[in-house]
Amino acid sequence: MKKPVVFLDRDGVLTVEKGYILPLEEVECYPFVKKCIEEIHQKGYLAIVVTNQGAVARGYFTEEKLIYLHEQIKREINVDAIYYCPHHKEGKVEKYAVDCNCRKPKLGMIEQACNQFEIDMENSYMVGDRASDIELGKNAGVKTILVESGYGSKKMEYDIQADFTVEDLREAVKIIENRQ
Ligand SMILES: [Zn+2]
Repeated sequence: MKKPVVFLDRDGVLTVEKGYILPLEEVECYPFVKKCIEEIHQKGYLAIVVTNQGAVARGYFTEEKLIYLHEQIKREINVDAIYYCPHHKEGKVEKYAVDCNCRKPKLGMIEQACNQFEIDMENSYMVGDRASDIELGKNAGVKTILVESGYGSKKMEYDIQADFTVEDLREAVKIIENRQ
């Protein structure tokens, strides 16, 4: 049976945004995230993370270390999958310095999710803190929720209107719960 998904950005939504690239050892989830994911599951949604990690292409950390961190995060907060884009067309690590199909707002990571899961896109959501997240949601035809916990509306890189704007993931989950 098809399930709707709450697609989640990582930095600024699940993990604390510090405004610069953190060493991976310092990446931490907000304390409320685990319970939010539980509630998302209780409502019948999958929780799937889609995250741009161009720092891999820029040589700040390796893809192996990123995969290790994501396995820890998966265990800690129990999300169903984490898709990441390690690319950046201006990156200095040759292997990742490509103009790929997976960097948000392109649809590649959502297409990967659709290949792995039976997804009811019509009732799905995208939750993020940046313009590229909201644009991705619009490209995918899902409802979009901007959270202020990361970059948020004051730092939007370009003008794009989310369906909802809320404080953080807790408020986003309330919106999702109230719409069913
Ligand atoms: Zn990519």
